Amino acid sequence: MNRRHFLAIAASACAAGLLHHGPALAGALTQFAPQQGLIESPVRDYVSRMQNFDAPDPADIILSPERFSTLKKATARLARTERVVGHGNFYILSFDEALRLADSYPSIGTFSKAEKDLLDEIFHTDASVYGFYGTKPVTRLTERIPQREVIKVPGMGNWLFKGKPEETWQAIQQIFGERVILTSGVRGVVKQFMLFLNKAVVSEGNLSLASRSLAPPGYSFHAVSDFDVGQHGFGEANFTARFTETDIFKQLEERGYITLRYPQDNLLGVRFEPWHIKVLS
Ligand SMILES: [Zn+2]
Repeated sequence: MNRRHFLAIAASACAAGLLHHGPALAGALTQFAPQQGLIESPVRDYVSRMQNFDAPDPADIILSPERFSTLKKATARLARTERVVGHGNFYILSFDEALRLADSYPSIGTFSKAEKDLLDEIFHTDASVYGFYGTKPVTRLTERIPQREVIKVPGMGNWLFKGKPEETWQAIQQIFGERVILTSGVRGVVKQFMLFLNKAVVSEGNLSLASRSLAPPGYSFHAVSDFDVGQHGFGEANFTARFTETDIFKQLEERGYITLRYPQDNLLGVRFEPWHIKVLS
């Protein structure tokens, strides 16, 4: 059984609701290996890759130099778009709006056909190719986030969807007051592209490595419901496993009404994200 085949099985097991049994499931699957320890172990490879999520792996998908150059140009253009529309508006900008802005502002410059084709291809590629097995809540590249469906959270510079996400955040805020911060809320397709591409640029075009830290565009639940929280004053450590040492995380976990979308030892190809709050099931 090769790695890809194994992970496809693992992913469908997760989809069937076995996610909580990640380690147990992995253990069960290794028992099928006839000469355990002597042959390639997909489970061991997977665990090692996720523990070293920020390091390249021989199985990673990496762009050719030419495509990497195109990716860097598209990424820089998106960064210029963000400067034109502002940080807050960029969170909910649609792909079509970004293209239109690029056409109208010489300071951004029109996206070339090669850039558009590459972005289109990345969006429509099944991310399991990279080793990412999460589900894809947004399937249209041109998906828009209507402004009437979101609210700008006072003092946080972020947006949340009205309804359950906003209510969940308010409940968390009631518990912790000013000690809790909303580190990231609604992120449309373009914002998710920006984060994923920035990671792909610093990873020298390694799309698999990028996908271990960031959901590829279309695959992020920030586009439909989820958000990230942190502890005031904890800075960048809010985005590390150290967040689990904070009072905020411990209480959120204890109170039980918060479930994590990417638990530790998940088999979805996503690093452990204890700061990420899953809102919709
Ligand atoms: Zn998140």
